[in-house]
Amino acid sequence: MAGPSGYKKGLNSGAWHVSPFAKKLTRRHRDVARVDTAFAQALRAQTLYPQRIDALVAGGTYFIGNPCKRCGSVKRRVFDCGCWSCKQAMRPIVLDGRNRLAKGWLSVRSRDGHAAILDAKRREATGEFYRIDVGDWSARVYPTGRLAVHCHKQHIDTSDLRAVPKGRLFELGTANPELVEIMRRAGWSVD
Ligand SMILES: [Zn+2]
Repeated sequence: MAGPSGYKKGLNSGAWHVSPFAKKLTRRHRDVARVDTAFAQALRAQTLYPQRIDALVAGGTYFIGNPCKRCGSVKRRVFDCGCWSCKQAMRPIVLDGRNRLAKGWLSVRSRDGHAAILDAKRREATGEFYRIDVGDWSARVYPTGRLAVHCHKQHIDTSDLRAVPKGRLFELGTANPELVEIMRRAGWSVD
């Protein structure tokens, strides 16, 4: 029996009453996709982002996708492909009149489960990353959330910005709006 969207019941999916043709992917989609390969394939076929389904199956809450038209962040929610930074109920980065870091602290948070973290590590090991260029600065966002930042002029070359001490990072961000822009695009938010 085919559903209204034409998806034929196959393998285990018939018993689940959940359609792969959904804009929003929930825990139920995840549970079915984990046991039903055909269902996972159908999910992949109906989204722009295969990595979204990988993250869903692994229990992840976000993936690296196309940059948000509004804020430029590449971090997107598994649930609805929405921009993580715009939709997450976190305070935005506060900038002063000169577009510099005004106050607050920047952090990158994830509620992803153990499987999602392992999956991200596996994808990172295969060399997957997203590149961000702002002025003389360039950065790479990795699936694990690692943010490698390079600026030849400032003699800055860090493989993981998250490991930079908070005080130092705040100094750098205050002096370099380009760096704040990179963090914003990478989906960092005020804690
Ligand atoms: Zn956004």
